[in-house]
This record gives sequence, structure tokens and C-alpha cells, in this order.
Amino acid sequence: MDEEIDAGEFGEWLAQTQAMLRGTAGAQVPCGSCVGCCVSSYPIPVRPEDRAARERIPASYVRHAPGQPPGHMMMSYREDGTCPMLVDRRCTIYVERPQTCRDYDCRIFAAAGIDVGSGKPVISTRIAAWRFRYAQDSSREAQAAIAAAAAFIRDHPSAFAPHRAPTAPTGVAVLALKSHVVFLDPRTVERSAAGVAQAIVAASRDFDAATDGAG
Ligand code: SF4
Ligand code: SF4
Repeated sequence: MDEEIDAGEFGEWLAQTQAMLRGTAGAQVPCGSCVGCCVSSYPIPVRPEDRAARERIPASYVRHAPGQPPGHMMMSYREDGTCPMLVDRRCTIYVERPQTCRDYDCRIFAAAGIDVGSGKPVISTRIAAWRFRYAQDSSREAQAAIAAAAAFIRDHPSAFAPHRAPTAPTGVAVLALKSHVVFLDPRTVERSAAGVAQAIVAASRDFDAATDGAG
């Protein structure tokens, strides 16, 4: 039987993840011995505010992040896809690791019912293993709405304005989470695809505006 790992109560996870996206809380992922994030060929942004990380990461491991202002760096990965700061399956700068590493929570893909793709087998295995618990019906309804939003975004890119629909799994999952209220509204089924796409963009804007207001 495939491994199953407790992902926590869905409503609690959702509230915590929304706070993480608003920058008011960090992700708290029960990773255990998993190092999927650190072995999956992810370039890691190292931003100016990642001061402690910048002091620990050798200059030869970072380069300017394309399209970003000065001071925004990117740490590349080794030929085998592992992060250069990973040694013996341990992050050598764990306490000072960049914010991106602190925020990554692969449960968002389990919540949205999407995978990260065939090139990241360790993360895919973990996504398949997560099992949420549901303390109330609203938790189940929220997850169903997030999954419906993710499926719509993935299946209807042309319903959005050009280049507005994310295609990368993380972008799809984050937009679905921010906009899932659209799929809690029973009137959504009566809308055209373009109308649903507009509602998704508006809900995401509302989420970000509330985030700015909270800052
Ligand atoms: S893949 Fe998921 S469980 Fe594994 S280290 Fe990354 S966030 Fe943690
Ligand atoms: S900096 Fe540490 S936590 Fe981040 S990817 Fe590298 S090894 Fe993993």
C-alpha cells in the first residue's frame, strides 16, 4: 500500500497558508526526513531581504536573477538537481535559509489536486502521500473549490486575457487558493468561461489588496 502522511486539518492548513501568502506567518510543513525541495532542480531566489542567507551562500553559487532589480540573486542547482547548500541530505544553512525555502509547502499541490510534473519524482511522491483531515463540511467544500479553481485555470487558459493565466504548477495552485471563493458561489456554474476567468482575477486581486491592507 502506498504511504499515507497526515497533512493536518484542511481548514487549519488553509488559514495558515493564506497567512503565509499574506506574509504574516511562515509555512510549517511536517517534512520529516523529506528533502524533496532541495533535490528537485529548483533555482532558489535569494532576495536582498535574505541577508543571513546571502552571508552564508558562496558568491560562486549565485548570479543575478534575470529580469529582477539589482540585488536580486538566484542560486542554481548542481548537475544532479540538488541544491549546493545540501550536504548529506541536510541543509547546511537551515537557520539562515532563504524565504523561498521557508515558504514552500508541497501540500498546496495536494490541496489543488495537481502534480508538479514528471521531473520532480520526490516531490510527486510526497504530494501523493499527503492526506488531509476535515473537521467540518466547510473544510471539504473549500478544498473542492480550490481543486475546481485549479482545474479551470489549467483547462481554460484562453478564457483569460493574454498571458494572465499561470501555467506552472505553483502559479496555478496559488491562484486557485487565492480565488477559490469563486467556486463556493453557486452562480459560477451559470457564468461563461470568460466570466469565470474575470471572477478569478478579481478574487485574486481582492486577496492581494487585503494582503496589502494587512501589511
Ligand atoms: S517536498 Fe514537501 S515534504 Fe518534502 S521537503 Fe519539500 S515541502 Fe517538505
Ligand atoms: S537552501 Fe537549504 S532548504 Fe533551501 S533548497 Fe537549499 S538545501 Fe534546501
